[in-house]
This record gives sequence, C-alpha cells and structure tokens, in this order.
Amino acid sequence: MEKQSSYNYTIVGAGASGLWLANALLEQGLLEFNTLCIVESDSHKANDRTWCYWATKAIAPDETVSKAWQSILQLNISSNAKSLTPYSYYHVRSADFYSQLKSKLSECPAIYWHDEEVIEVNDLTAQVEVRTTKETWQSDRIFLSALPPSSSNQADYKLAQERYFKKPLSTKSDLFLWQSFVGWRVETAQKVFDESSMSMMDFNVAQGNYTQFMYELPYSSTEALVEMTRFGEKKLSIPEAEEELRNYMDRKGCSYKINEVEIGAIPMTPQFDMHRKYLSPKERIIYIGTLGGAIKPTTGFGFKRMHAYSEKLAKALKEDSTLPTMHRPYRFRLYDALLLRILQNQPHRGKEIFEQLFLTQPIHRILRFLDEETTFVEEIAIFSKLPIRLFLKSLLDHLSGR
Ligand SMILES: Cc1cc2nc3c(=O)[nH]c(=O)nc-3n(C[C@H](O)[C@H](O)[C@H](O)COP(=O)(O)OP(=O)(O)OC[C@H]3O[C@@H](n4cnc5c(N)ncnc54)[C@H](O)[C@@H]3O)c2cc1C
Repeated sequence: MEKQSSYNYTIVGAGASGLWLANALLEQGLLEFNTLCIVESDSHKANDRTWCYWATKAIAPDETVSKAWQSILQLNISSNAKSLTPYSYYHVRSADFYSQLKSKLSECPAIYWHDEEVIEVNDLTAQVEVRTTKETWQSDRIFLSALPPSSSNQADYKLAQERYFKKPLSTKSDLFLWQSFVGWRVETAQKVFDESSMSMMDFNVAQGNYTQFMYELPYSSTEALVEMTRFGEKKLSIPEAEEELRNYMDRKGCSYKINEVEIGAIPMTPQFDMHRKYLSPKERIIYIGTLGGAIKPTTGFGFKRMHAYSEKLAKALKEDSTLPTMHRPYRFRLYDALLLRILQNQPHRGKEIFEQLFLTQPIHRILRFLDEETTFVEEIAIFSKLPIRLFLKSLLDHLSGR
C-alpha cells in the first residue's frame, strides 16, 4: 500500500504492547475513520520470547495459547503440587502471537506497515514528526513502545521519563536490577516431566550473592522449558546459567537434547512507574509497554497489564476523554520499592523472603497480591509472615532516601 506523509496514529514497535494496542484500536472501531502506521525495525523477529501469565481465562487469542497449567509444583517447599484455582497459567510463544495478530491486522486497509527503524521523534506544534532511516512523516498521536536507538541505554530511559513526567526523578528511582534468564527447551529420552504442573521459583540452586532460581514449564512428559533466572545488578552470564541448567538436568537422571535456547533480561525498576494517573485527551506522545510502566518491577510480568491497558486506552480515545496511564496504587509501588531495595542491598535474603511467601500463603492470594488486587488487610497478613524487620529497615532507608 502506498505510504502517506501523515497518519492519525503511529505505533512505534510491533512487539507485545504495540500489537495489543493496534488490535484494541481495531476492535474499538477507531480504524474505520483513522489511519494507523505501525513501524517496526525488526520485522523478521520470530520466537524471541515466551510470554506467560496467570488469569481466570485466556486473554491472548485462543490459537496463540500453546499450553496452560492448572497447578504449581515447588519441590524446594513441598513434594505435592498445589492447585492454581481459580487461575490457569497460560503460555504463549511470541512467534504465534506476532503471526496471529499481524495477519488479523493486515486485513485492515487503514493500517500501514513500515519496516524501518525510528531514529527521531519530534513534538511539533500540532503533530508529531517521526523520522526513520528511510522517511519522515507526521502523526496526530504517537504511541511509543521503543525509543530511538540513541536513547536505548539506561541513562536515556531516565531522560525520556523525565521529559514525560516533566519533573526530575527522585533518587529513590535509582533502584535498578535485572531479571536475567537463560532457558533451554529440552527433550528427554525418558518421561521425566509432570506436564500437569509448572514450577516457579525453585530455589534449589546456588545463590551466590544473588537471588536466583529455576523455572520449569513442562510441555509433555519428555519436553520442557527449564530456565535459570537471576534477580541482580549483574546479569546472569551464559556459562553461569549453563552450569546450573546442567546440574538441574543431571538431577533428572536421563539424557536430553537442547532444541531451543531463550536468553533475556527484563529491567526491574520503579523508573518506569507512572506518576500521573491520567493524561490530557490532547496528549500526543504516549508511552506504552515497558516504557509506559507495564512491567511490575518485582516480577517482570507485564503482558497481561499491556493487554488491559490497550483496551482502556483505545476506549478513552474513542470517547475522546481523559487518557489513562498505567499508574499503580501508591502502596503497591511502595511494596515493590521495599523489596527491590532488599534485593539490591542484601540479595542473599531473596530466597528466604520468597520461600516464606509461598510457604505461608495460599497460591491464589499470592497471585492476587502480584496482580495488585488484594485488600490492605490481606497485605498485612502477607507481610506479617515475612521477615518483617528486613522490610521495616528497607522502609526506613526508603523514607530517608538512602
Ligand atoms: C525474554 C523475555 C521473556 C519475557 N517473558 C514474560 C512473561 O512470561 N510474562 C510477562 O508478563 N512478561 C514477560 N516479559 C516482559 C514483557 O512482557 C516483554 O518484554 C514484552 O515483550 C514487552 O513489550 P513491549 O511492547 O514493551 O516491548 P517489545 O515487545 O520488546 O516491543 C518493542 C518493539 O519495538 C521494536 N523497536 C525497537 N526499537 C525500535 C525503533 N527504533 N524503531 C522501530 N521499532 C523499534 C522492537 O524490535 C520490538 O519489536 C518478558 C521479556 C523478555 C525479554
């Protein structure tokens, strides 16, 4: 389709949040009378990640959910699997998600695809100018899930956020850890996996000066994704992860082959937290996805939040009302900051905190807490069973800005 010099909407990045938003604009009927340009620098990306989320029903189109588990097994805590009811834990291969959503969106004549890299975004008087490696166009609104390349390091994320919040970030926002992981999709010679249960936060691995654990997603009795994960200032190196993965697989006591490798890192930081609850209906530059604060700093989960936000945002655009952000209630931002501070200053205490959490609380309550849907009374019940002195010290440090 012939490209245009002006669009109503531009989405930068056809990743999770960009595609969720395009889908929501389409479903809200906004593309019947508006044009949308989707610009993506890596249009050939395939299965670059696995998205998991818990929910009472699938949010991703059914065809993209490749597996769902109804129970969780944590061998370091108990040999019995626990039911996830009322939740299921859903698994989406990013390749399936990209291809399903792109093929649905491609049928819409109001959507223009640009396979190029955005190098500059300029807010002009009435529109936003988007410059890429190949061309320049103007857009009434732009939704950014990625920053131009010169802004892709941590310091520039901060600058972008300062521009967005229109005030300097406080030092409390200097908390920054990585959730880094290396996963193997393995196939074993014998039936060693229980495909009815996934396993999360198995701390049966050396901690070093980090908080680190294993994650197992069994697809069948002979196939699973096993992933070594670290919360820490320093990312997990491939040799370090491989050693733990080999030990983990050796304990299964059978031969295996590695069919795929997943390597990734998610920022764990309050830096992307939205401090404004709403934006003016006229706001032209809107951050979505990770940049818009979708990722919960202490878990790295954000896929479900991006979906919910896209729906809310598209609805508000349709109604021409105040635009929502992914603002989170203050107390949940505080809990995250307290835990991040502990994980940053005393990383070896992470294992104890998470094990206590899983030992003392029913799974459904933990998941609701992580979804920020618990009541204050439930949260007191949760914290009362955790190493409370550690959290009080973290609170004092937080309040004094240390
Ligand atoms: C390996 C991995 C696994 C994860 N697993 C989970 C999970 O299980 N559950 C969960 O809830 N969350 C998970 N996350 C966290 C989060 O959901 C994902 O990172 C999610 O993909 C973030 O969505 P996004 O739209 O912000 O960014 P992305 O999905 O990364 O999309 C950004 C897009 O912008 C493009 N782009 C970048 N720069 C430019 C440019 N200059 N011009 C044009 N295009 C550009 C990129 O190519 C990319 O396609 C995971 C993250 C990673 C890295």
